[in-house]
Amino acid sequence: MRDLGLQKVAVLGATGSIGSSTLDVLGRHPLHFEVTLLAANRSVESMHQLCRQFRPAFAYLADAESNAQLAQVLAGTETRVLAGEKELCECIASADVDTVMAAIVGAAGLQSTLAAARAGKKILLANKESLVMAGALLMKAVAKSGSTLLPIDSEHNAIFQCLESNERAVPAKGGVESIILTASGGPFRTWSASDIVSATPPQAIAHPNWSMGPKISVDSASLMNKGLELIEASWLFNMPVDKIEVVVHPQSIIHSMVRFVDGSVLAQMGNPDMRTPIAYGLAWPKRIESGVKPLDLSTVGELTFEKADLNRFPCLRLAIESAAQGGTASAVCNAANEVAVQAFLDHQISFGDIPRVVELTLSEVANMEPTSLDVVLLQDTVARAVAAEHVERLKAKV
Ligand code: NDP
Repeated sequence: MRDLGLQKVAVLGATGSIGSSTLDVLGRHPLHFEVTLLAANRSVESMHQLCRQFRPAFAYLADAESNAQLAQVLAGTETRVLAGEKELCECIASADVDTVMAAIVGAAGLQSTLAAARAGKKILLANKESLVMAGALLMKAVAKSGSTLLPIDSEHNAIFQCLESNERAVPAKGGVESIILTASGGPFRTWSASDIVSATPPQAIAHPNWSMGPKISVDSASLMNKGLELIEASWLFNMPVDKIEVVVHPQSIIHSMVRFVDGSVLAQMGNPDMRTPIAYGLAWPKRIESGVKPLDLSTVGELTFEKADLNRFPCLRLAIESAAQGGTASAVCNAANEVAVQAFLDHQISFGDIPRVVELTLSEVANMEPTSLDVVLLQDTVARAVAAEHVERLKAKV
């Protein structure tokens, strides 16, 4: 594997689920990857441990108080603590970083992902919210700088693997008929509508197949995650929303598929472990060992498929509708969902209130042309305020 060279890697969201899986893969290949920057939000102790283990040149916590504590504990070591988001973005754009794992959760990941795109870095994109909020701006920045954008979400990584390089820019010209996103169906796949609306946070977080952070786990339970992924796929693969299908596949072995005009359907399979797409992204266009167990289909037994139910899972419908509307509607949908999911995790609103907050916010916030980052950020702020008002109103009823 000599020709992989030595990549200088920034891991943004280093203390999270994707961050740990990434560091696990990086740790297996110390000759090919050097961790130069680690960033997270407020996990001082975890970040301290990671800095001791990986000895990056730079570290950063977004929460100012936590960042000051980190600077204290790292004083006198080889790691310099960056002062703020501006310095973080400058570091990402500098020669100290070749590859960026964008794995900050939610809208908070947008600025750093854009900084990587503008600077022409190789981006491993886990932070789907960046594309959902500002797909046009991010894809434009990637095209302008010549940045390499590799999807890490397992579904999009699967689609990327199923497409020939000449089909990725304009799939329809390469004979691609549609994209089939698989969904596990989450923990409430077999639940009745009345049980789903009163589900608790521990029930929503208990995903049957994947181990993930709390926000994406709740999104998986509501199928909002699949809706966000549909929007993400439409930007990544330049596909109209009506050419993206969703099929429930409870075993999470097929990570997604591509349907071609000649009747062929190509699928990518593997055990549900994010280290596979992460290793693929790190080594692309080559392959490296990831630590993932080999897939044993005789143990899996059967692969089954079901239709997605938009009635029991209205968040999926809302995300699809926002994508069809275009403009800033998806950014509004994403912001309202983030507010609602946090309120649900904080036991302020019910699970059934999440789509309520999203739907009301979408109907009240104007849809605008996302002509600049300022417009997107403004609509994100407005949507958060509107969603927070609905949360306040609904709180009283829980
Ligand atoms: P986690 O909740 O496990 O981790 C989130 C990470 O983001 C933590 O390191 C957290 O730091 C950091 N963070 C939060 N806010 C900020 C901020 N303002 N600035 C810098 N860092 C911040 O999330 P996941 O790892 O599950 O998900 C990360 C992203 O990857 C999400 O966008 C998700 O949709 C996507 N994704 C995740 C998958 C998975 O299997 N987990 C699969 C596919 C996509 P701290 O610990 O200090 O709070």
